[in-house]
Amino acid sequence: MPDLWSDDEAAAFVERFGDAGEAVALRVYTSRLLGRDPSLVLHGGGNTSVKTTCRDLLGREVEVLCVKGSGWDLADIEPPGLPAVRLAALRELRSLDALADQDMVNAVRGALLDCRAPNPSVEALLHAFLPHAYIDHTHADAILALTDQPDSGLHVRAALGEDVLVLPWIMPGFPLAKAVAAAFEASPSCVGIVLAKHGLFTFGATAKESYQRTVDLVDRAQRYVDAAIVPAAGPEASALPLAARREALAAALPVLRGACAVVAGGARVVADARLDDDLAAFGARADAAALCATHPITPDHVIRTKGPYLHLSEADWSEPDRIRARVDEYAVSYRRYYEASARRISPEHMHAPTPVVAVLAGVGVVALHASRKGARVAADIAEHTLRVKAQAQALGEFVALSDDELAEMEYWPLELSKLGSKLAPELQGQVALVTGAAGAIGVGVCEVLLERGACVLATDVDADRLEKASARLGGGERLRTVVADVTAPADAARLFDACCVTFGGVDCVVPNAGVAHVRSIEEMDHEAFQRVLDVNATGTMLVLQQAARVFRAQGTGGAVVLQASKNVFAPGARFGAYSASKAAALQLGRVAAMELAELKVTVNVVNADAVFGDEDVPSRLWAEVGPDRMKARGLDARQLRDYYRERSLLKQEVTPRHVGEAVAWFAAQRTPTTGAVLPVDGGLPEAFPR
Ligand SMILES: [Zn+2]
Repeated sequence: MPDLWSDDEAAAFVERFGDAGEAVALRVYTSRLLGRDPSLVLHGGGNTSVKTTCRDLLGREVEVLCVKGSGWDLADIEPPGLPAVRLAALRELRSLDALADQDMVNAVRGALLDCRAPNPSVEALLHAFLPHAYIDHTHADAILALTDQPDSGLHVRAALGEDVLVLPWIMPGFPLAKAVAAAFEASPSCVGIVLAKHGLFTFGATAKESYQRTVDLVDRAQRYVDAAIVPAAGPEASALPLAARREALAAALPVLRGACAVVAGGARVVADARLDDDLAAFGARADAAALCATHPITPDHVIRTKGPYLHLSEADWSEPDRIRARVDEYAVSYRRYYEASARRISPEHMHAPTPVVAVLAGVGVVALHASRKGARVAADIAEHTLRVKAQAQALGEFVALSDDELAEMEYWPLELSKLGSKLAPELQGQVALVTGAAGAIGVGVCEVLLERGACVLATDVDADRLEKASARLGGGERLRTVVADVTAPADAARLFDACCVTFGGVDCVVPNAGVAHVRSIEEMDHEAFQRVLDVNATGTMLVLQQAARVFRAQGTGGAVVLQASKNVFAPGARFGAYSASKAAALQLGRVAAMELAELKVTVNVVNADAVFGDEDVPSRLWAEVGPDRMKARGLDARQLRDYYRERSLLKQEVTPRHVGEAVAWFAAQRTPTTGAVLPVDGGLPEAFPR
């Protein structure tokens, strides 16, 4: 493990954050060095502190502990992420025999110098009770491989030597703080403390000393682990070829995702899959099922991943009914664990009894979570977990916390408060697939769906415009793009497979791709007419067909929101190709509403009119139609927009976002409505639905 300390960088941090004092600036620097190495801490894990002084309102010097605050990640922490707490107020708590969690939070908050600061870490007392200026706490993979063993200290002592203490598992909070302080006082020459099945504390007089002790101990642990493990010769034979892994996921994920939603009472999750060779091979190990059933490598992972992972053998994941049965079994087993181990600590309610992480033999690992970020966090943790479990197993035998110990962490209010309590957006957990996504309406639809919390797979036949649309939508982890031609059956299938591999399945499908050709019937270009039919009618049919396939596999219903046009009810001269093909699309939508109702899929239609878009994403349709209409009416571009606005009842311009709002309404399925047509046209009596 490399020592990344640099005097120049340290000086740069002092320069940048000097207002908070040099001690805090250096604390920020080494906290980030630790936080940016995922083999040391993941996603808000670990904590650090520094003891220093500051002045109170009366100008008196006060000894304070600046300790990581809740909601901050070591990787990008700043001085406000290290709130200052009066040290004396914390230290005097040590005389108590016991301290209830809520009393501890109260006492620590009450000692803050700034009442607006975030809650200090639940380990604040541990940091306060030790005498050192700097303290670093990580959950280093290499340390966990040594200590997650039947004898937690055996390998630790062999690897790290005698100047490191090993404490048994103790629940974090007040009891752990007292135990660590007492252990240190009995061996004051130690340079670090390993907490069994939890992680590592190091300390020092300076930021550099404490950081370098972490580096040194983790490095020793890593060398010990490496020396004990004989690497397998040649490639991992049990992993399927990459293309086969993707194919397996495309088929299995919608079933898995649907089964989880059914068990969770309809709450949908999105997926994040990792297909690395070693992860694919892990699931095929003879002991994979047993290792997946064991608990996390360090306890604070439990609120992100739950305890056991769902293991699916090839015989399981290749058979939809077996996937559903395995999810049901997981739920039964989780309920049993809850009743036996969690109930006694009186939690408010049981978490959904569904797996968060699934390991597919030969394929890889998949995390399932209501939010895309939650799925990414769980997948990151799962990657490290499987690798550490494999190492620990090679070293001896992987052993984690017992059910009772884990339940205490999983349902600990102070741990759960890390997850926050923000109200989930309306479409969180939903996956939307939008065709024609690079056009004006497509971008408007994607924009609104993303705002409502959905994951969006945006597809278009035009790669350049799709890239531009993605940039306009701000990229982000909930947006993915695929270039595809919806008139080709193979492309339509590939598109839905990509959506399943990327997000786990699909809930809302928006067939929106459309083209126009302006010509009277007498002058109609046959090829152009066919092209319009292909995109607007055949493309819609192919997308509906693929949507039905995935909806059936998931078994959790879905929403189709099809873009037809005001022209279906009020056609325009010289617009036969468009009007006829959109009429076909609308009729397909109505037939789909009848056929897919048995799957609880709603199919509704939006009839928009005169959506010009903006300069950034102008309507492709109007680029085609506009010149003809301007000529016919003797108007310029601006006058044409005004003309269409003024001809509507509401005298209001229709924007792409208006269409997006209509789509989001149907996607949310707030009413039992299917087969309906919603005009978004400012009000045109001749186009009232009928
Ligand atoms: Zn910890």
